[in-house]
Amino acid sequence: PRLANQIAAGEVVERPASVVKELLENSLDAGATQLDVDIEQGGVRRIKIRDNGHGIVKDDLSLAMSRHATSKIVTLDDLEAVQTLGFRGEALASISSVSRMHLTSKAVGEDEAWRVEAEGKEMTTAVRPASHPEGATIEVRDLFFNTPARRKFLRTEKTEFNHLQEVVKRLALSRYDVGFRLSHNSKQVYDLRPVTDQLHAEHRLGTLLGKKFIENALTIDVEAAGLRLWGWIGLPTFSRSQADLQYFFVNGRVVRDKLVAHAVRQAYRDVLYNGRHPTFVLYLELDPSTVDVNVHPTKHEVRFRDGRLVHDFLFSRIHKVIADVRP
Ligand code: ADP
Ligand code: MG
Repeated sequence: PRLANQIAAGEVVERPASVVKELLENSLDAGATQLDVDIEQGGVRRIKIRDNGHGIVKDDLSLAMSRHATSKIVTLDDLEAVQTLGFRGEALASISSVSRMHLTSKAVGEDEAWRVEAEGKEMTTAVRPASHPEGATIEVRDLFFNTPARRKFLRTEKTEFNHLQEVVKRLALSRYDVGFRLSHNSKQVYDLRPVTDQLHAEHRLGTLLGKKFIENALTIDVEAAGLRLWGWIGLPTFSRSQADLQYFFVNGRVVRDKLVAHAVRQAYRDVLYNGRHPTFVLYLELDPSTVDVNVHPTKHEVRFRDGRLVHDFLFSRIHKVIADVRP
């Protein structure tokens, strides 16, 4: 039962943004280096994601949409070793049960592309030939068309798109080596090229978070006791109060964690503060076996094996960087 609780994802499909998150994570799991996201009407009308990953072989196409058919987790030990972003094997099944879904793919090394469709609970088992380069395209139309109750909870087109854009933003901040395109109602929102060096990473940051942030940010890159912390820290003296410009990644996943938030807040408060919100884009890297990312199904919380060590490391390093430039 514990295992069941831990992986009982339940609400994977809450709104268009959650669909986009699951689909993009699948694409990244498939090794994609370019992700094209086309959205119509805040994602309610249409979400189309095309990737250049390893694709899905013909025989697995319809399986991919059936619940738990693909769960990578067999035992609790597996749960601890989870490295890929997806692990519950139910995202596609959940999404396809509340939308009209097309899945088209050409798997690496195959000659032909194939396509399956599902509409609500009904799946057309027919796998038809299609035209597609290596990779996969997943199209989700009319989200919640068959679940009016959930449809009622959707907000305006603009609000839904904002949530969705935030999902793309976070992933773009966690994978600089991947190109991201995002368009809404045929208008281009992002065209982020894959980058490999600091300068271009900062260009991407400027696009995603505003030039002001990056022009007034300190860089940090420190390592100790098996922990590495790198990224950008907005100067409290310069940056305007932007409560939402706080991104913290643990081994590549965005987290909202109390321990982390506390350490960062303390570090800022201790130096100079004036009640401003800290702004930062920070990346913590540590041995995956010393952190549990599965505390909550949405995976925004983490549990560190040695919380005190992590807290003190974050606090002391961030504190030092800010203190060094104190006017
Ligand atoms: P999970 O990601 O938890 O395994 P999903 O329902 O999200 O479950 O996806 C089911 C399976 O479909 C994945 O495990 C993967 O094998 C395959 N899949 C989904 N999307 C893609 C994609 N874009 N490229 C390649 N394979 C994919
Ligand atoms: Mg998945």
